[in-house]
Amino acid sequence: MIDPKRVESTFLDLVQLDSPSKFEAPVAQYCLHALQTIPGCTAWIDDTAPLSGSDTGNVRAFLPGSKPVTLYLTAHMDNVEPCRGVKPVIRDGVVYSDGTTVLGGDDKGGIAAIIEAVRGLSQSDEPRASVGVLLTVQEEVGLFGSKSLPDDFFHGETVLVCDGDSKPGIVDVGAPYHYTFKAEFRGVASHAGVAPEAGRSAIQMAAWAISQMKLGRLENGASANVGKVSGGSANNVIPASCIVTGECRSLDGDIARGTMESMEAILQEAAARFGGTVDSQWTLEYEGFRYADDDPAVLRILDAARSLGLTAGTEVSGGGTDANILSAKGARPLVLGAGMTDIHSTKESIALADIVDLARLLEACALSW
Ligand SMILES: [Zn+2]
Repeated sequence: MIDPKRVESTFLDLVQLDSPSKFEAPVAQYCLHALQTIPGCTAWIDDTAPLSGSDTGNVRAFLPGSKPVTLYLTAHMDNVEPCRGVKPVIRDGVVYSDGTTVLGGDDKGGIAAIIEAVRGLSQSDEPRASVGVLLTVQEEVGLFGSKSLPDDFFHGETVLVCDGDSKPGIVDVGAPYHYTFKAEFRGVASHAGVAPEAGRSAIQMAAWAISQMKLGRLENGASANVGKVSGGSANNVIPASCIVTGECRSLDGDIARGTMESMEAILQEAAARFGGTVDSQWTLEYEGFRYADDDPAVLRILDAARSLGLTAGTEVSGGGTDANILSAKGARPLVLGAGMTDIHSTKESIALADIVDLARLLEACALSW
């Protein structure tokens, strides 16, 4: 049974423990203790800290069940800044910060729901799946906690990633492939008034490239952006260097790659057109995934949500979470709405009822899996 009072006290404890990315140890110790004191549950901290660079490994736990299948529940322990000294304020059942920090409901709402679901399941005699818990470090700054897991960590298990900003009952069935780039145009510096003929403007190369790129939402559903431009030194110097950074995303891996290739071709053409060179580097930040709306795991979660009276539905996300990394490590991750709103801002809030609903949903999933 899920206990709403216990959910509230776990959540309020968690948000008052500082956990900026890389410094998740206090939250990890709290979660370790909370999970270790649940009857039948084993919990430990994994040995990935040297790989991720955090002051703790990821928190792991396992609650054995009677069915021969394991359902994983995950959330992340780190918060974006400003997140030190959070003072939670409750108004009408909704928790806010005092306005000077984020709340950290992203993703401590997910953690509180997971801990409570494991507690509830440990008290039940009903047949259920085994439950694996994974609480990661450094999700916000590059998904490093999940990246530090071994490549063969999962073998097709479903992973419920409790980190969505929609309401509990909504399931993200897709997330994009995401490429980023950094390109440095190199021209030739020269005095802009005395010898402009001898110069090659790197800024002009960058400007032409950007003007030729299709940016924003593209016709094929992909998105592309130039996020930062920097270059030049003085008004009377033809700029020899200009650095441009940006990204593109698509749910379809081929479309994402195609968008990347056409942006790269424009970078090269711009440099050649103005007599310079460009040195560009592309990084696949994470791989995407996409489930059919009638995927059995999706249907099972939606059924569980409906059985609890929640509004059930599917969405496709435009951003990346640990789910993208876990997918590449052999899991079948689905991101569940956790009820958080205005994330990454000092207005962030979460309704206690939503955390309770998510805990009930996780419990119902483990029972029906
Ligand atoms: Zn998050």
